[in-house]
Amino acid sequence: MTTTPPDSLPSSASSAPSAVNLHPRIGHGYDLHRLEPDLPLVVGGVKIDHDRGCAAHSDGDVVYHAVTDAILGALGQDDIGQLFPDNDPKWKDADSHIFFEEAVRRMGNAGYALGNLDITVILERPKLSPHKAAIRQNLDDLLGCDSSQVNIKAKTHERVDALGKTLRSPATSWCY
Ligand code: MG
Repeated sequence: MTTTPPDSLPSSASSAPSAVNLHPRIGHGYDLHRLEPDLPLVVGGVKIDHDRGCAAHSDGDVVYHAVTDAILGALGQDDIGQLFPDNDPKWKDADSHIFFEEAVRRMGNAGYALGNLDITVILERPKLSPHKAAIRQNLDDLLGCDSSQVNIKAKTHERVDALGKTLRSPATSWCY
C-alpha cells in the first residue's frame, strides 16, 4: 500500500525548535493485537509464515506500532492512534512503515536523533529467532542508525494467558 501520511498533521511536527542544548528524552511504547486464523502475520516489517495473524485496522505490526509510540512518546507528541485513527479508511490495511517513518520524520524535525531503542516481542508461537536479523535490519534502515543502537528480544508468556492468541510488544526509545 502506498498511502501517504495525512497533510493535516499538527504544525508542531514540522517546525524545529529554536532552542539548543536539548535534553535527552525517553519514550515508551506498547502494542497488542489478537492473533486470529488466516490473517497475515507481519512483525517488524517481516511477513512470517504462520496459521494466524494480527487482527487490526492496518497490517497489525506490533513492533512498528510500539516503536512509533516510543519515539512519539519521547517527543511528547500525539500517539499513533491520534495521528492515524483506526476508524479512518485511509489506514485500512496500511503498511505500518508509514507510521514509523512519520515518527522518525518528527524526531528529526524536533531536533532529536535516536540514542538507542530496546524492544521486546511477546508471543508463544511461532518462534521469532529465525526472523530477528531481518527485523533488526528493517529497523536500522528505517531509523538510519547503526545496528548497535537497536536491540530486539523475543519472549514467550510462559503459557499464562490464552496460548498463541495474542502478540504484544513493549518498546523503549532514548533520543538525544
Ligand atoms: Mg497496533
